[in-house]
Amino acid sequence: MSLIVQKFGGSSVADAERVMNVASIVTDTYAKGNDVVVVVSAQGDTTDDLIDKANEINPKASKREKDMLLAAGEQISISLLAMAIEKLGYHAVSLLGWQAGFETSSAHTSARIKRVDASRIKREIDKKNIVIVAGFQGLSKYGDITTLGRGGSDTSAVAIAAAMHADLCQIFTDVEGVYTADPRKVKNASKLSEISYDEMLELATLGAQVLNNRSVEMAKKYNIELEVLSSLTKASGTIVKEKSKMEKMLISSVAKDTDVARISVTGIPNVPGLAFKLFTKLSAKDINVDIILQSIGHDGKKDITFTIAKDRIDDAVECLNAYVEAIGAHEVLFDDTVAKVSIVGAGMESHAGVAAKMFEALYDAQINIQMISTSEIKVSVLIDAADADKAVSAIHAKFFD
Ligand code: ADP
Ligand code: ASP
Ligand code: MG
Repeated sequence: MSLIVQKFGGSSVADAERVMNVASIVTDTYAKGNDVVVVVSAQGDTTDDLIDKANEINPKASKREKDMLLAAGEQISISLLAMAIEKLGYHAVSLLGWQAGFETSSAHTSARIKRVDASRIKREIDKKNIVIVAGFQGLSKYGDITTLGRGGSDTSAVAIAAAMHADLCQIFTDVEGVYTADPRKVKNASKLSEISYDEMLELATLGAQVLNNRSVEMAKKYNIELEVLSSLTKASGTIVKEKSKMEKMLISSVAKDTDVARISVTGIPNVPGLAFKLFTKLSAKDINVDIILQSIGHDGKKDITFTIAKDRIDDAVECLNAYVEAIGAHEVLFDDTVAKVSIVGAGMESHAGVAAKMFEALYDAQINIQMISTSEIKVSVLIDAADADKAVSAIHAKFFD
């Protein structure tokens, strides 16, 4: 007998028919003699709709109250799935995050899981129940409901798999696995049979939302093999694990992130210490900086350009404007019509010319590169957002056709 954790995303439980479909997948697994813990997200666009409802009333509402509201989405899907499983003649119990033992930090809307006390889940399994847990949520030490950040249900599933030493952790979604590019955007993207944790972590961080990056980080830390597969077809999915034969491939996937903005501070006096001070100001506001580019100084001045998440533009510009005056720099410019397109692949560590090939694809498509950043297993470029889909297709064609 095995312990299997199965996670179903919002589209997999979007309506009554889909909920019954999930119930049949879960009960089939249980009927084969396995213990099953199921993690579900909110139905369809429920979380987005709840955010809209909050914004209608108070866009500046406290994060505690936002969490209270957002956590409600998952409560609906766990109870509906339990009812569906009961209808098929099996015993199920639904549990909210706190009932399932999810202890988190108190950083509302982006809480981190500190511990999963799985004793209640174990008791329910001993009672022969199929256990259904609300993803994306937990409880802070102050006794308040928290949420883990968008896409956080993947992390909930991996955390349960780690806490319970599960034999298998399956992430069911609306595509058949991890592809060489988003299969909804690139028609001839192909499914990968395997991908390493490191590559998947880069991909997830660079915008491929098929897995949440923190779930991959946790899977790597606890060595939990993940299987990403479709809840709608029976096709085999993609295995995410430590070492993958895919490492032989030059690149494994192309990703796009449009949640990015570019900021430049121009005419900074070319003396030591100002970059340090500038980025310290941003970090004091908890603003995460990604690609950074500094021009070679001329006439005693230099420019620093960097990228941040789109929703932090106002905070960043406000904080930098005050700073610009204080140090006699010229001005702060920003552009939120940019996108980051990246290639990821362990193969590029040992092959020359991968970046050149990517840049050639962009040149062929007449797409201008604004910024470049690299690591051992990825190359990212910042380009005009309007060119992003064209860029992904051109790069994908260059490497995979
Ligand atoms: P869920 O609701 O199941 O959590 P998500 O919408 O969060 O599903 O993630 C699945 C989506 O990820 C797919 O529908 C697909 O459009 C997108 N995606 C982006 N990049 C990739 C990729 N490389 N491989 C597979 N899917 C991808
Ligand atoms: N329902 C949450 C969201 O939409 C969590 C998840 O889907 O993983 O972000
Ligand atoms: Mg998701």
